[in-house]
Amino acid sequence: MRGVATVPSYVVMQPTTLCNLDCAYCYLPMRAADRRMPVPVAEAVAASVNVWAAAGRFSVVWHGGEPLAAGRDHLAALLAPFGPEVEHHVQTNATLIDDAWCDFFAEHRMRVSVSVDGPRERNGDRVTRGGRPAYDRIMRGVTALRRRGLPFSALAVVSRPGPGLATELYDYFLDLGCDVLGVNIEETEGVNTRDNAHPPADVTAFWAELVAAWRRDPRIHLREVEWSLRYAAAVLDGVADEVLPRQLDPIPTIAHDGSVTVLSPELAGFTDPRYGDFSSGNVLESPLTEILAGAAGTPWVGEYLEGVEACRSRCPYFGFCGGGHAANRYFELGRFDGTETEHCRNSKIRLLEGVLEHARDHQSPAA
Ligand code: SF4
Repeated sequence: MRGVATVPSYVVMQPTTLCNLDCAYCYLPMRAADRRMPVPVAEAVAASVNVWAAAGRFSVVWHGGEPLAAGRDHLAALLAPFGPEVEHHVQTNATLIDDAWCDFFAEHRMRVSVSVDGPRERNGDRVTRGGRPAYDRIMRGVTALRRRGLPFSALAVVSRPGPGLATELYDYFLDLGCDVLGVNIEETEGVNTRDNAHPPADVTAFWAELVAAWRRDPRIHLREVEWSLRYAAAVLDGVADEVLPRQLDPIPTIAHDGSVTVLSPELAGFTDPRYGDFSSGNVLESPLTEILAGAAGTPWVGEYLEGVEACRSRCPYFGFCGGGHAANRYFELGRFDGTETEHCRNSKIRLLEGVLEHARDHQSPAA
């Protein structure tokens, strides 16, 4: 894997900066302000995306703020320029989902992913702007999806990984009815400055326990565990070098104002005296294809690529990880050419160790 690809596999769109919740661990800097994406921004992005989608599978991920806070009419106007081949996904806190939104998802064949951290008592960080628990409102939205038979994914943030939690979480999500689950250990990034360092043994035990819970009843696609097992299988088959893509996916995030940030959506909306606003261009001024063709020349991206090469030469987990996320390096280390972060320890190194710990604990006596 070398350099940044010029054609992404998906783009992230920010229809509004606003979120109707105020979660304690949120990284978004402008979530109290309603800055909506004008339709010409979507038209400019669609001009490139429609070409890519005609050549193969391609997704647009609507991510906020809270994307549904943009309103159905405005979101429909932003979707309109995209051709029928484009797959649409939305990451939502679910609090605004009702029958009318379910009709909208069905009409636009939009795949829904709900942010929820487990049972009520695990959602203490998910609160309204008035500081009240959001759990009942989240569940109303999930109930609407279930009533209407719309499949959905779930994304859970774990702030304090430790013994016992993984089984509880997995059982909860089995009952919830999601078909895909992603588990993120809380990250120190953006405006969230909470510490994300945890005892290594606790994090490894959390992942090992999650694998065990999943293996008992693997009805849900468990994102992190499936990644790790795919890598472990590739190592056993002697094809570990083929797991990573040949080039980094640029994953362009299009902010509400049309500015394009590659590699890490979490950098959008921030500025730094050394790196400027992290943007590689604006779709209102240049085609997205042109911006991505030149993205590797963005000064911080070059520094990040040096960090990836440092990971490649020093880290035994590189074949699985591919060098970590740009935003975690920036927000934890203050620059892009470092290597280990608390994030990569929690979510790459300990994850793989947890899967191996589970495998060691469950190997047959004859093995
Ligand atoms: S695990 Fe950390 S140090 Fe290793 S390749 Fe990934 S980001 Fe780099």
